Amino acid sequence: MATGKIGVSTSDLFPIIKKFLYSDHDIFLREIISNAVDATQKLKVLASNGEYKGDVSGLNVQVKTDKKAGTLTVSDNGIGMTREEVEKYINQIAFSGAEEFMEKYKDDKAAIIGHFGLGFYSSFMVSDKVEIVTKSYRDGAQAVQWSCKGDPEYSLADVEKAEVGTDIIMYLNKEEKDFLEDNKITDLLTKYCKFLPIEIIFGKKKEWKDGKQVETDEDNVINDINPAWTRKPTDLKEEDYQKFYHQLYPMAQDPLFHIHLNVDYPFNLTGILYFPKIDNKFEIQKNKIQLYSNQVYVTDSVEGIVPEYLTLLHGVIDSPDIPLNVSRSYLQSDRNVKKISAHITKKVADSLSDIFAKNREEYEQKWNDLKVFIQYGMLSDEKFAERADKLFLFRNTEDKYFTLEEYDTLVKQEQTDKDKNIVCLYTTNKEEQYTYIEAARAKGYDVIVLDGQLDTHFINYLEQKKSDHKYLRVDSDTVDKLIQKEEAHATTWTEAEQQDLRPVFSSQLPKTDSVFMVNFEAIGENSDPLLVTRSEFMRRMKDMAQMNPGMNFYGAMGDHFNLIVNTDHRLVKQILEDEKKEMGEKVSPLVTQIHETEEKQAALQAQHENLKKDKKEDEIPQAEKDSLKEYSDKLSDLKSQKEALLDEYGKGNKIVGQLIDLALLANGLLKGEALNKFVKRSVDLIK
Ligand code: ADP
Repeated sequence: MATGKIGVSTSDLFPIIKKFLYSDHDIFLREIISNAVDATQKLKVLASNGEYKGDVSGLNVQVKTDKKAGTLTVSDNGIGMTREEVEKYINQIAFSGAEEFMEKYKDDKAAIIGHFGLGFYSSFMVSDKVEIVTKSYRDGAQAVQWSCKGDPEYSLADVEKAEVGTDIIMYLNKEEKDFLEDNKITDLLTKYCKFLPIEIIFGKKKEWKDGKQVETDEDNVINDINPAWTRKPTDLKEEDYQKFYHQLYPMAQDPLFHIHLNVDYPFNLTGILYFPKIDNKFEIQKNKIQLYSNQVYVTDSVEGIVPEYLTLLHGVIDSPDIPLNVSRSYLQSDRNVKKISAHITKKVADSLSDIFAKNREEYEQKWNDLKVFIQYGMLSDEKFAERADKLFLFRNTEDKYFTLEEYDTLVKQEQTDKDKNIVCLYTTNKEEQYTYIEAARAKGYDVIVLDGQLDTHFINYLEQKKSDHKYLRVDSDTVDKLIQKEEAHATTWTEAEQQDLRPVFSSQLPKTDSVFMVNFEAIGENSDPLLVTRSEFMRRMKDMAQMNPGMNFYGAMGDHFNLIVNTDHRLVKQILEDEKKEMGEKVSPLVTQIHETEEKQAALQAQHENLKKDKKEDEIPQAEKDSLKEYSDKLSDLKSQKEALLDEYGKGNKIVGQLIDLALLANGLLKGEALNKFVKRSVDLIK
């Protein structure tokens, strides 16, 4: 038996392997099995070009556990190795340049493990000792046994082995004994080996018999050696794609449609991507795209390899051209990865265009599920946005669908304002905003439904891109002012009248975090007496703040509403008349006083300004300043007195209360106790 020292200058490589790779130790099984699969594939190649005469029909890899011996063994009937090859591939090549490499990637576990040559040595993460028993396919080859206890010393000896191939026997260390458990191995094999191109066998299939699980004679094959993505699209039917999808995600709903990727120049890329049905957000996160390299599972975090919005898709990408063992930031700048990413984007846009062109009806049916994906893509990827501009659909309140261009044509005539903007009206909730939708439609306007997660961001985006487009929620203003075609009719009420009535209406507005502004407008005698509208800007900011923690400022603010008082309406006119009759005498002395005080204050202010011209601030006599302050205090006192009177009056005015409640009710803003009171009051009114 020969002994020797592994050809590596750093003798403490094993501690490094253990230390750095510890948390990823599951990967060793993938590495060992990949090597075994490679060995069988190589034999197949040799057979196909006549260099190997033996039978290659039963090539497979077997995984076995032996609890007594504490070993996990991976056996293949591939090409095997001669003594010289073990010397070369296991002892020397495996570690060439290792030291330099370790230095460079010492913090990047994935890089270390994938470094050429380290694959096999990852078995030492879990083993005290590893043996290789191998026999080369070459005629008359002598089988050898290599053995190493996790230090650079190894032994190499001739042994008897009947079949060509290699056994890797891992003597698991104390902490890793759970790799002897069937369940653990089954889980790992299903994760990493599900689609390997050679049968991976783990024991025998089991079946239930007399209430017990018993082994059958049939091999327990873990994998599907011909997964759909490796086959030609022409050989596959729709149901094959569906079946494969469920192989990947057993619990998921049927996908909407698929894209088969199949490129072999200038890079190698195969795969199938699926548009999932998105009614369960949890599944989107759970069922990720899986990345394979020649059918070996690599990862399901493909960020950096495909554009972020495409990570919403499901399925498989397989490419040996993606460098697997480098850091994410390096990956993003890799030329191949960039090309692959661009290719996938193009394919996705192509296939969407295709369905849109060939079967618009189907496209519309699936639109609800596609929408988030396309919006996300358009918001985050300019290239995609260019293509998808023709693929985006608006749905209106009548469930009709329009492309952006079609929609412009539809509304151009009626919904262009005096500044030549096309104003698109939308609702976020057809039920809650019903009154406003009806009012808009009665005026000949169309209303689109925007109730998706990304809609607010998306209309911001559209407004930025098309500066002559405005998007307004139907309740953001009175219907006449939503799309201003000429200057709006101002109210005929005097400023004094407005000032008197403002506290009367305010008195009965809800006292919550919400802010209400009372405005007077002449919007026609047939319009509602009072209307509650909600500022588009503030509402949108709040919506966006919900999705964007950086915008907390807006998120924490109360809602902003306008109470529009229609001064053309009979009841509103009546309220003004009543107020004048009832309050005129009480208020007018205050108004006179306010007036006088304001005049005196103005005179004093003018005098003060004059003084300031030639004197510095601290040269002005204190008495002067004090009297100015006295006036302003008096003024605010008088004003509060007036407001208090009107507020008191307003609170007792049943018509005001009833009209405000009706306006709030139309917006779904009347709730709880206020709603209860409203109902009682309404019943009383009928009696
Ligand atoms: P890599 O697989 O990245 O080349 P490894 O350290 O895993 O690095 O393996 C080193 C070499 O050892 C392989 O390239 C191969 O030549 C040889 N080898 C490893 N496992 C086997 C096997 N099961 N059968 C035949 N050769 C093997």
